Amino acid sequence: MKFRKITNKEIHQSAVNLALRIPLAHRFYGVPRGGVPAALALSSRILGSFLVERPEDCDIIVDDIIESGITRQRYAKYNKPFVALFTKEISSSSLYGISLDPKEWVVFPWEGDVEHSAEDIPRRLLQFIGEDPNRGGLKETPARFLNAWKEWTDGYGKDPSEILKVFEDGAKDYDEFVIVKDIPVYSQCEHHLAMIFGTVAIGYIPDKHIIGLSKFSRLVNIFAKRLQVQERLTVQIAQAIQDNLKPKAVGVVLKCRHMCMESRGICTPGTITITSAMLGLLRDEPETRSEFLRLIGNE
Ligand code: ZN
Repeated sequence: MKFRKITNKEIHQSAVNLALRIPLAHRFYGVPRGGVPAALALSSRILGSFLVERPEDCDIIVDDIIESGITRQRYAKYNKPFVALFTKEISSSSLYGISLDPKEWVVFPWEGDVEHSAEDIPRRLLQFIGEDPNRGGLKETPARFLNAWKEWTDGYGKDPSEILKVFEDGAKDYDEFVIVKDIPVYSQCEHHLAMIFGTVAIGYIPDKHIIGLSKFSRLVNIFAKRLQVQERLTVQIAQAIQDNLKPKAVGVVLKCRHMCMESRGICTPGTITITSAMLGLLRDEPETRSEFLRLIGNE
């Protein structure tokens, strides 16, 4: 994640430019929390303007930034123009100021220093569950939480072809299965941000090329260390091998436990979810498929 510190100068510039486009508005409402300083910056550029306490009393609603558009949707019922100093939306409007890269982590001057700005998220979570973030044992928790999540999701932006490109020839006459199984997998479910863990078995029949066996666990991590559903994770691993190695067959079987399912909701401790992806000969030939399943110990 790239960090982007918004400067007071940029806020001023954006307010000046927007003020030229909306010269007649007088009553501003600032969306809590970032919209309040944004509305103050804007109103200071337009003579006779002031802030009101409720959206229904204003002429224009102001926010600091359009991130996902959800806030703007929430205020759509007031039927007022919605102005923002910054936007991450590609299709911009004349009511939005400076465009920003959607991939950047944006920090405003009122959100503290860049390095610690994200710690507000776990700190608010601690408050939300009724904890006291200042309690001794929790002091370092926000920073630890963020570091852990960085590690659990560091598969983003990694390209599987980078690790699969090293071909080792000398396998010209080998046309049987290569199987690696019991590869550990740790991922996060995208619905609850809860741990998914288990093992992967990967098998392929080479077509002249093979890859180092240790590459498989690195490949699994590239996709597992993202927010996932098990089905997609399975297909992504198989497809990456197919695309880069072009084998005669590739099969991937995942056996995972989902903490969101075991520890909450319907609570089914110990349940194992099995998913598989079969490509090439494994898809077309039942006997190849049963050989693969026998080799990984599934039959
Ligand atoms: Zn879940």
